[in-house]
Parts: sequence; structure tokens; C-alpha cells
Amino acid sequence: LTHGEISPRTAWHAGMRALHEGKRGAETFLKELVWREFAYHLVYHTPRITSGNWREEWDAFPWNTDERKKEVWAWKRGRTGIRFVDAAMRELYVTGYMHNRARMIVASYLTKHLMSHWKIGLDWFADCLVDWDPASNAMGWQWSAGSGPDATPYFRVFNPVSQLDKFDKDRAYADRWIAEGKSNPAPEALSYFDAIPEHWGMSPSDDYPEPIVTPEDGRERALVAYKGRDF
Ligand SMILES: Cc1cc2nc3c(=O)[nH]c(=O)nc-3n(C[C@H](O)[C@H](O)[C@H](O)COP(=O)(O)OP(=O)(O)OC[C@H]3O[C@@H](n4cnc5c(N)ncnc54)[C@H](O)[C@@H]3O)c2cc1C
Repeated sequence: LTHGEISPRTAWHAGMRALHEGKRGAETFLKELVWREFAYHLVYHTPRITSGNWREEWDAFPWNTDERKKEVWAWKRGRTGIRFVDAAMRELYVTGYMHNRARMIVASYLTKHLMSHWKIGLDWFADCLVDWDPASNAMGWQWSAGSGPDATPYFRVFNPVSQLDKFDKDRAYADRWIAEGKSNPAPEALSYFDAIPEHWGMSPSDDYPEPIVTPEDGRERALVAYKGRDF
């Protein structure tokens, strides 16, 4: 869909056929297609969604906009010390893909725990995603940040540690992508170090970092800023 190799109508009719044949997951698939259509509807009617806060009152929110901040670098490089976030950011860098659940978690961590502007994340996803799509990406980021239409409320802060307990109970995902601290790291985890530029200065034999911002501190900081806003 992203590359225009199949049209949404073709995908929709295939989904409807699957639904009528009683195939499992068909309804969910159709709903996902509707999200994509919604994103395009938003871009068509409010093109500003790709470049600025859809709810303009969020312009007054004190996001960090400095991409060079070390917390932002840690987020991009998968060195936040939060395993779910780091695994997902490394998977993104190596494969260009990230599951929707992980996209929501890393976006929440950047915009809420690190209080950094969603546009930093939007640009990084645009650089890295193979399914990058200007409409879905903008909608996804603004949904996560709280500045979009139908957005998750800002006070809904995903806890990336409990999300790991819920969705990666046996740590298979985290272990697949994080090499540090492992005597026999997974091939995917090692492939990350082949993919990244040398000047990032990272090695699988480094210690795994302590959290740069813990889920509790990040949540607290985000909520204080949210409550202190005057809009
Ligand atoms: C912060 C953030 C950024 C995102 N950036 C992009 C992006 O650049 N490109 C992109 O295609 N999707 C983006 N998404 C939406 C979603 O994560 C992906 O579409 C989804 O992961 C695709 O999974 P899939 O290939 O298994 O598709 P399926 O789950 O099988 O869904 C079928 C199709 O429906 C569409 N779709 C599914 N979920 C969504 C959704 N939540 N929003 C809009 N369309 C959806 C996609 O076109 C997808 O190929 C983003 C989500 C978030 C939270």
C-alpha cells in the first residue's frame, strides 16, 4: 500500500471476501485499512497534520525540540536502558519495520517520558521505516503525542516496562534485539552493530545502560508539564 503497488480498494475487497468466507482476522484487517483511510482523509482536509500540531493549542507545550540532546540520541540508537524501547528502535534500524504496539510505545516514550517533540520521531521514522507513509506516520505520531484528532489523552502514558511484561513475557523480543550483557547474543542483536555507523561508538560488549529516564520519573515529569499547561 505504501509503495502504491496495490490499491486500498483491492485490499478492501480482498478483506471483505475473507470476511464473508469467515476467515479469522479479516475484520481487524479491514479496520486497519480504515485507519489508513482516516489518515488520508485528515491529510487531505488538514494538511498541516504532517508538519505542525493538529490541535494548535499544543504549540504552547514545552516539548524539547533539540535533536542533539543526549536523551534523543539514546532514543534513536536504542540506548535508553528501557528494553522494549531499545529492542524496537534497533529492529527499526536493521529491518525498517516495527510492530504497531512497539511504535506506540517508542512514540509515547519519546513524547512523554523524554518530553521531546513528536516531529523528531516523525522524521526518524521517515528515515527508517520501509512502510513509511506521510499520512499514517503523522497521524500515528500526533495520536501518540496527544496533539492529534482522536488522540490518546496526554495523561495516558504507556509504561514501557509493564508493556514488556504483558507483550514480551519471556523476553524473546528484547533478547532478539539487545546484545549487551549476553554471553551468546542473538544474530539479530549482533546485526544491529553491523548496521550502525562506526562513529556511534557502540559495541555488543558494552554494558547495557541504566534507564536514562525511568518509567516512574518520566511519567511524573510529563504529568507535571501537562497539568501546568494553560490551554
Ligand atoms: C508513531 C506511529 C507511526 C506510524 N507510522 C506509520 C507509517 O509511516 N506508515 C504506515 O503505513 N503506518 C504507520 N503507522 C501505523 C501502523 O503502525 C502500521 O500501519 C502497521 O504497523 C502496519 O502493520 P502491518 O503491515 O502488519 O499491517 P496490518 O495490521 O495487516 O494492516 C493492513 C494495513 O492497514 C494499514 N494500517 C494498519 N494499522 C494502521 C494504523 N494504526 N494507522 C494507519 N494505517 C494502518 C496499513 O496500510 C497496513 O499495511 C504508525 C503508527 C504509529 C503509532
